[in-house]
Amino acid sequence: MKTLVVGTVAFDAIETPYLKTEKTVGGAATYICLSASANTQNLKLVSVVGGDFPTTTIKMLKEKNICLEGLQIKKGEKTFFWSGKYHQNMNHRDTLDTQLNVLENFNPVLPDSYKDSDIVMLGNLIPTVQKKVINQMTKKPKLIVLDTMNFWMDNFMTELKEVLKDVDVITINDEEAQQLSGNNDLIEAAKKIKEMGPKYIIIKRGAEGAVLIHKEKQFFVPAIKLQKVVDPTGAGDTFAGGFIGFLQKNKELSFENMKKAVIHATVMASFCVEELGIKGVQNIDEKRVIKRTRQLEKTVDSVFV
Ligand code: AMP
Repeated sequence: MKTLVVGTVAFDAIETPYLKTEKTVGGAATYICLSASANTQNLKLVSVVGGDFPTTTIKMLKEKNICLEGLQIKKGEKTFFWSGKYHQNMNHRDTLDTQLNVLENFNPVLPDSYKDSDIVMLGNLIPTVQKKVINQMTKKPKLIVLDTMNFWMDNFMTELKEVLKDVDVITINDEEAQQLSGNNDLIEAAKKIKEMGPKYIIIKRGAEGAVLIHKEKQFFVPAIKLQKVVDPTGAGDTFAGGFIGFLQKNKELSFENMKKAVIHATVMASFCVEELGIKGVQNIDEKRVIKRTRQLEKTVDSVFV
């Protein structure tokens, strides 16, 4: 199987109650690809960066066997920049700044080898760009997964709803689910979102875990209890990367397999938040993944619905 990932490759500046960074490498697609690459090969990245983006990071992504043929490098332009601040309760953050830079005129061009991908992961990005990617596929993907955030809902709700018609799985956090559906009750919100297109809805609830909803079924997975949370940035993207990486590796797109994928995704996200920026997903230790998965599986049995 082959997976196409589109999303931001970015610079972030992060502030938590305990630390403050200058520009550090981030971006939705960076986290997704690193997380998925821990489990699977044959990942194809579509994105854009400026001439200011570090060549060492590009080299690192190549070394993880992530295909970068679809990564545009705009010399003389600046990479997308995002800055956010977390409060004492790390489930909540404010966006301090979003500078689109190269993203402003981004026109994704899919290399031929990308156009028949089995899974398409539409990472957090302008909905019109997500749509342009779908439109270039020459073979109908087996699964289209979409992630988005409030920034795009505030500015491009109509365009987002247009993309959602083509989407099989949406991963979204609880606040975004409420904004998208106009409903505060998560299960009711999921019903409304289902009417927009996605058959499977994954609502991420930070330290409260995640729920996968399909038809009348709800599958809850608690978050892993951690000693320390250093930086929650990218947890959602790492989750999405873990989810698609698992599905690709197991070549099974059923609800039953998606439940296991959500468990794996939860484990991957736990490694992300323990380190600053992409560091936690860059060096994933398989033995620790297995250990945490076993640990989580024990707790999940009791909440199977
Ligand atoms: P997450 O914490 O999973 O929501 O992902 C945070 C990552 O998303 C950061 O690395 C940012 O660079 C990236 N990001 C922040 N805002 C946006 C946006 N409006 N569109 C796309 N990516 C974004």
